Amino acid sequence: MERRIGSGLRGKIFLAHLLVIIVGVLTLFAATLSIAPTLFDRLMIAMMGPDASSMGDMMAGMAETTAQAFRSAMLQALLLSAGAATLAAVAVSLFVSARIVTPIQQLLAASRRIASGHYAERASADADDELGALARQFNTMAAELEAAERRRIALIGDMAHELRTPLATIEGYTEGLLDGVVEPGDATWALLHDEVGRLRRLVQDLQELSRAEARQLPLQLRPCQVAELVDQAIRRIAPQFTEKGVTLTTDIPSDLPPVQADADRITQVLINLLGNALRYTPSEGNVRVSAERQGDSVAFHVADSGIGIAPEHLPQLFERFYRVDKARSRALGGSGIGLTIAKALVEAHDGHIWASSPGLDQGATFSFTLPIAPG
Ligand code: ADP
Repeated sequence: MERRIGSGLRGKIFLAHLLVIIVGVLTLFAATLSIAPTLFDRLMIAMMGPDASSMGDMMAGMAETTAQAFRSAMLQALLLSAGAATLAAVAVSLFVSARIVTPIQQLLAASRRIASGHYAERASADADDELGALARQFNTMAAELEAAERRRIALIGDMAHELRTPLATIEGYTEGLLDGVVEPGDATWALLHDEVGRLRRLVQDLQELSRAEARQLPLQLRPCQVAELVDQAIRRIAPQFTEKGVTLTTDIPSDLPPVQADADRITQVLINLLGNALRYTPSEGNVRVSAERQGDSVAFHVADSGIGIAPEHLPQLFERFYRVDKARSRALGGSGIGLTIAKALVEAHDGHIWASSPGLDQGATFSFTLPIAPG
């Protein structure tokens, strides 16, 4: 297949050159054969004078021989130049196909290897013409495919790991119950119930995440008052703050313009951030929700006085299953994808989300922006 495509293009380039040569040579032949004899006869008449025919048979014979010699010399010259032109066509088409067909064949081979799962394959992109640009674009695409594949494999590994932990606990307890090693009782049932709940939350979060990342969550965008969005989230989560003894305050200026958002989704983002703030802030601590105008957007901030985040962890926090302290997050009921969901939802609104923290034990602030509603 590869050879057929390559030789096909090579053949076409050669034929194109040959066609130009054939047309050129034929035109030359036709023009020379129709013009040259007349010109030659006129020249002879001019040289010998108008009464050359009266000079006798000898002179006429000489003129005929000269004309024949001229014609055969001209034919030979034309044949020679046609041969030379054909050779030139072969050489030029070989050169051109080496410059065009070889890089295309390399790209073809590279794309075949990528299609068969060799994502590290790259095409050589040294040329600075369009083919070089094509190869560079191809390489960028291959690098993105490779990264996506790496993320996919990591995701499957992470998911298996996340599922294994609660499943192992459930299996251990049910085996203990069957063997009579573990006493059936309220504590055991509560523990099993917790682990099943963890599994359910994880599956729910994963489903939500995949829908948000695939942009399959239909967003009902409409102008929303910032204070209303914050109130909605706070009303739902405030009891948990009271229960843990963490103070929750808000600071929303009354003159903020409305934002263009899906109220339910943004409430969900705020609840995720407030849930984290609560989870990672010890009792007696405090959490503050504020908002401010930033150019064409409104920025929301959820700041806590909790355990804080070391600077080296900040860039990865929004990746799936990334946790600064795995055991702590799990023990506190975290699935490790709350921030990834928040990021997908905010980005679906054309906003962006980020985290900052002065360091460990100095609290953390999670912020996101939403565009101001048009009009
Ligand atoms: P989890 O379910 O583990 O909380 P998230 O995606 O919501 O997962 O958060 C990822 C990680 O970011 C957490 O495991 C935690 O280490 C860190 N984190 C999130 N919010 C805070 C916060 N307010 N203070 C300190 N660390 C936080």
